[in-house]
Amino acid sequence: DREERWKDKHDTIGVLAIDARGTLAGACSTSGMPWKVPGRVGDSPIIGHGLYVDPQVGAAVATGTGELVMAVCGSFLAVERMRGGDSPETAIAEVLTRISSRSDLDEDHQVGLLALRPDGRWAAASLRPGFRLTVSDGSGHHLHAPGFVMFPGT
Ligand code: ASP
Repeated sequence: DREERWKDKHDTIGVLAIDARGTLAGACSTSGMPWKVPGRVGDSPIIGHGLYVDPQVGAAVATGTGELVMAVCGSFLAVERMRGGDSPETAIAEVLTRISSRSDLDEDHQVGLLALRPDGRWAAASLRPGFRLTVSDGSGHHLHAPGFVMFPGT
């Protein structure tokens, strides 16, 4: 049915990168959402929503229900929190806390976030289980679960 088809038919790839000198970069690519209203623009193509990089402060990228991310300027908010001194973990937990306080949150809603600082410290978190990330470095590619899941039982 429509709900089943909806569930697996979207995804954003978000990439954050850092070189040996601490130079940050970010990119994302998305299918958007299936069954979307014609003309809908999700969070991914909008700087500060699906992706934001400030070379001095940090980078963040988001995947999932774009409307939730856009409502809080999610990646910009994460980077601004790091600018204020938050760790990447705390910064993205704050973004998820803002999102999770919405009264219209649906059980199909998901948001995954990555954040990276110029010193190489990174974090990943998601609203619900299922989000995975890969860390690639000189030792290879390593699959991780996020360090924090806001609603682990869902
Ligand atoms: N964030 C994307 C959007 O809302 C969809 C996704 O991450 O799967 O357009």
